[in-house]
Amino acid sequence: MTELSYPAAGVLFIVGLKGLTSPRTARRGNQLAAIGMLLATIVVVVDLIAEDAAMAWGIVVAGVVVGGAIGAVLAIRIKMTSMPELVAAFNGFGGGASAFVAAEIIVTTNGNLPNETAATTALSLIIGALTLTGSFIAFGKLQGLITGRPVSIGGASTNGVVASVAVVLGVTAVITGDPFVYWAAALVAAVLGVVVVLGIGGADMPVAISLLNSMSGVAAAMAGFVINNQALIVGGALVGAAGMILTLEMSVAMNRSIGNILFSGFGGGSPAEDIGTKPVRAATPDDAAIALGYATRVIVVPGYGLAVAQAQHAVRDLANALEARGVEVLYAIHPVAGRMPGHMNVLLAEADIPYDKLLDLDQANPLFSQTDVVLIVGANDVVNPAAKTDPDSPIFGMPVLNVEDAKTAIVVKRSLSPGFAGIDNPLFYEDTTLMFFADAKKAIESTTAALANI
Ligand code: NDP
Repeated sequence: MTELSYPAAGVLFIVGLKGLTSPRTARRGNQLAAIGMLLATIVVVVDLIAEDAAMAWGIVVAGVVVGGAIGAVLAIRIKMTSMPELVAAFNGFGGGASAFVAAEIIVTTNGNLPNETAATTALSLIIGALTLTGSFIAFGKLQGLITGRPVSIGGASTNGVVASVAVVLGVTAVITGDPFVYWAAALVAAVLGVVVVLGIGGADMPVAISLLNSMSGVAAAMAGFVINNQALIVGGALVGAAGMILTLEMSVAMNRSIGNILFSGFGGGSPAEDIGTKPVRAATPDDAAIALGYATRVIVVPGYGLAVAQAQHAVRDLANALEARGVEVLYAIHPVAGRMPGHMNVLLAEADIPYDKLLDLDQANPLFSQTDVVLIVGANDVVNPAAKTDPDSPIFGMPVLNVEDAKTAIVVKRSLSPGFAGIDNPLFYEDTTLMFFADAKKAIESTTAALANI
């Protein structure tokens, strides 16, 4: 049964992952993967019962109940806007769990590991430890407990030096089998997690989170080898591979190499002193309604503020009203808009906005010059032209939506405050830009109301 159940769990993970590739099948995919995980957990417990290891299966069941309850409460109570923090914390717990599995084996064998598992034990310990600390630093940054700007400890070479020491200690631990060397390697890896993630700033956090996600999978796969559990190997390998593909796609979207993100201590802005002091053209709901109502094509650019305000349904109602007047309404989604990959797609799907109206960066950019109004709802960094024009900008080189090419840009946000990268946005001061200062939901609702009168 065990031999059959683990591959079955693996198949459920893979079919589940495939389901996640489209919003229509994502929920079902998630359920299938969860069933796979449940199956794998049941098999572990049944195996332990069969071995008459009463104490061990009691502990596993207690772990499932306590861990499952905490996970369920957190997942139910979490706000959509805090999802990235939750994902960061879950990555950290995953890495920590793998490190503890390795540590338990090292303690019980006193380091005398068979050759075939010594290396995977060291990898599980080291990668797990750095994922644990790195993820909690990422959690702190996203939660605002630690500054979002890059904090470089001892310059850019520190990360490379600490990483090299961790590798040397890991190799030495495998060769000598000395438990103290294993602990030293884990400690240095934990420090590496802290210094690397502290050094990542502002706009580069999405790449860091998806890389940590991948690392938690690699650590779990290594732990699977250590305890010879196929489901853990398959599940961990899938998380590792999927997370790595996402990391590479996100770094392409940011036009940065992973090495550059991890080792350069770059990516966050220093707040400009003059933010909010330059003149802008302010708009009222009537101004927005007139510009939108007489347009031929409108492109909506959602950003993090749309998620904060939960304005997706209001945007859909406005789009319906515009479409009833014959206006074409499309949506341009930047790959790092919001605070997690796919954040905007999830919100717009929740509001039943048809998927075929969503444009990605490459589809949207050529269309802006043939667009009357671009309605920017709570987005900031992803429409910052400084990424193209200012070589000193911390986001220089990141591909952005070319919204300034449209005839008019209406920016809905509450103030001139910067976005995640902490930098000013020259778009706000353009002659063709109207600033609509309000909470996104209220602004869009008042615009829809005003539209009814024109
Ligand atoms: P930004 O963080 O650049 O800007 C969001 C804007 O929303 C703010 O300027 C804020 O302005 C406004 N806002 C906040 N609340 C409201 C509200 N209730 N109503 C209206 N506006 C509101 O968001 P973007 O989506 O443009 O860019 C995402 C940024 O986050 C990028 O730098 C990206 O790298 C980073 N990031 C992305 C992750 C991902 O995976 N997608 C993960 C982690 C970081 P104001 O306060 O004036 O209202």
